[in-house]
Amino acid sequence: MAIKNTPTEIRWNPEQPISEVTQTSDLTVSPEVIEEIADLRAQIGKDLVMLGHHYQRDEVIQFADKRGDSLALSQYAAKVEEAKYVMFLGVHFMAETADMLTPKDVKVILPDKRAGCTMADMADIDDIEDAWEQISAFYDTSKIIPVTYINSTADVKAFVGEHGGTICTSANARKIIEWALSIGEKLFFFPDQHLGRNTCFDLGIPLDDMIVWDPEEPLGGHDQASVKDSRILLWRGHCSVHQHFVPEHADSWRKRIPDIKIIVHPECSFEVVQKADYSGSTGGILKTIREAPEGSKWAVGTENNLVNRLGNEMVEQGKEVYSLAPYACLCSTMFRISPEALRESLKALTQDEYKWLITVPDQIRNLSNLALERMFKITG
Ligand code: SF4
Repeated sequence: MAIKNTPTEIRWNPEQPISEVTQTSDLTVSPEVIEEIADLRAQIGKDLVMLGHHYQRDEVIQFADKRGDSLALSQYAAKVEEAKYVMFLGVHFMAETADMLTPKDVKVILPDKRAGCTMADMADIDDIEDAWEQISAFYDTSKIIPVTYINSTADVKAFVGEHGGTICTSANARKIIEWALSIGEKLFFFPDQHLGRNTCFDLGIPLDDMIVWDPEEPLGGHDQASVKDSRILLWRGHCSVHQHFVPEHADSWRKRIPDIKIIVHPECSFEVVQKADYSGSTGGILKTIREAPEGSKWAVGTENNLVNRLGNEMVEQGKEVYSLAPYACLCSTMFRISPEALRESLKALTQDEYKWLITVPDQIRNLSNLALERMFKITG
């Protein structure tokens, strides 16, 4: 295996050659740490599968056996048969999903248990149950289909499983929401208001039919009439990375490079998505730019580790890829999976110890799996 210890390179300025890009990541990772990780990884061998999310930093993701977005990684996890351990180079909810999908005797490990997701944390199960109870006082909740983005805790996935709903990813949100609205009168979408709003609007649902549920306000900040009149209830959650993009970034790029194409993740705000030429999941963004004509120029509104790697990959094809925002938009919680944490986690594994084991309790696992099975059934 080639061992790389390359810094993250954020390329946002079109006048700056790729060879002179700004170095922004932690440059203090020693080559010894990287070598130690490689040695430990080799010692453990086929007992371990390492799954890495596209937003993970270079120094860590180079060790992933499989890379992907949330959907692809959950599909890989579901196929794990022979390994004893799955190590997730992502965040907590992804490791939980892997634990639900792998056989029960497979141990799922997250090298730093502080690697959470701010968006997932915005949808607390107690708040969701409270919202459901408040609505049930004046509306038949069996007519509401709850759907949660996969970026949510296992408790929330279990909640939607229990109440006839399902899970979506950014790649299949359209299909899932169509399904939900075909069987229910209303959709309650957790935790990302932006993915919910952007997808529903894309399906032709007017913004006036959507309300944002604020868990800190009685009845989400609405009266009974407006809850009854709405078709879409959007939980007040967002991604702390994608919220940094603003419409002015798109204006600025178009002014500087008139033929630039703008592509953003649907976790960006409605206003940003409306300014873009395309929006899509991380997998969709990669595919669109990889298949774009030679010489095309792109400003990308998503996490910068992905943008940077894609930019480097596209240099040979003469494509220019820039970050939509003129500063680093890194997922700071995923960044907690440091090379040092990875080394310690692998070292523990060689001593039959776990740093850190992610286990979803049986009851939550069963209900969450019900929701996941519905998702796989709906999307084929
Ligand atoms: S990028 Fe946003 S949604 Fe994804 S893990 Fe980080 S905080 Fe969560």
